Amino acid sequence: MKKILLLLIGLSLQSCTAQTNFDQAEIRKQITVEETRSILFTLAHDDMKGRDTKSGGYQKAAAYVTNYLQTHGIQPFYAAYRDSLVTDSLTSYNLVGQIGNYDPKRKTVLLGAHLDHIGIQEGEGDQIFNGANDNAAGSTAVLQIARFLAQHQWEQNLLIALFADEEKGLKGAFHLAERMKSEKVDLAYMVNFEMIGTTLTTGENQVYMTGYNLSNMADEMNAVSENFVQFLPQAKEYNLFKRSDNYAFYEAFSIPAQTLSSFDFQNYDFYHKAGDEAEKLDVENMNQIIGTAAFTMAKLLKNKVLIEMNPGE
Ligand SMILES: [Zn+2]
Repeated sequence: MKKILLLLIGLSLQSCTAQTNFDQAEIRKQITVEETRSILFTLAHDDMKGRDTKSGGYQKAAAYVTNYLQTHGIQPFYAAYRDSLVTDSLTSYNLVGQIGNYDPKRKTVLLGAHLDHIGIQEGEGDQIFNGANDNAAGSTAVLQIARFLAQHQWEQNLLIALFADEEKGLKGAFHLAERMKSEKVDLAYMVNFEMIGTTLTTGENQVYMTGYNLSNMADEMNAVSENFVQFLPQAKEYNLFKRSDNYAFYEAFSIPAQTLSSFDFQNYDFYHKAGDEAEKLDVENMNQIIGTAAFTMAKLLKNKVLIEMNPGE
């Protein structure tokens, strides 16, 4: 009897641990390389026609994402997840999901990636620009991280966004940032994922952060996962901070809003080329990055680490 009781106590302790501990091994088990590959190859398939609105491919990719969110218990933040906008007379929409409950009195953390790419372009040979690295890869990261985070309870509001019309000038992100501002969402910080499908020249399972010195975000992430977030001189030189969706949230809220990427100008020759295809990416390393990002986010959220702008920046 005693033995059984001890066994029962042991079992319940174990299930408690599974609820609250975010160990790397558990995360690797949940964020599988098979799923990374499956999402990436689906979003970058020729059927998705380069994921722009005009080709209808964006709508198809959005339907896939919507189904994924529904399947994994991520609730719509807006009706049918959609935040609609019109760009160049074409209606498009960001997809916005909510992990757990949303309480307007709480701080909100946002994870995002652009889902769109540049569609079909006239020319010789392959005309479908699949945008595997840019940005089926970042979209895959947001979906897998959301799925993981949705299995736990959080004391912050947690939102995820897949943006439309990034390639048309960050249109989707600016639309959502303005809307969230007008709705008084109390945004604490935003983390964006762009082109994480190749291995950073400095090493495996690493990314760099745009606007590295603007906030303590890189330092706090590295305090959880050593050496995960690098500084890339070219990111500063080319001002990449202003060239992805994170920038819209910095502009609207003056908060830390930064992008994680592994495209360092030396490790991929197919940026905005028809050859940006899933087969060219390092899915194993991409899966490592997604797992580490999920682990890092979970720790930052659980420990309620304050992410803030650096003084003078
Ligand atoms: Zn991009």
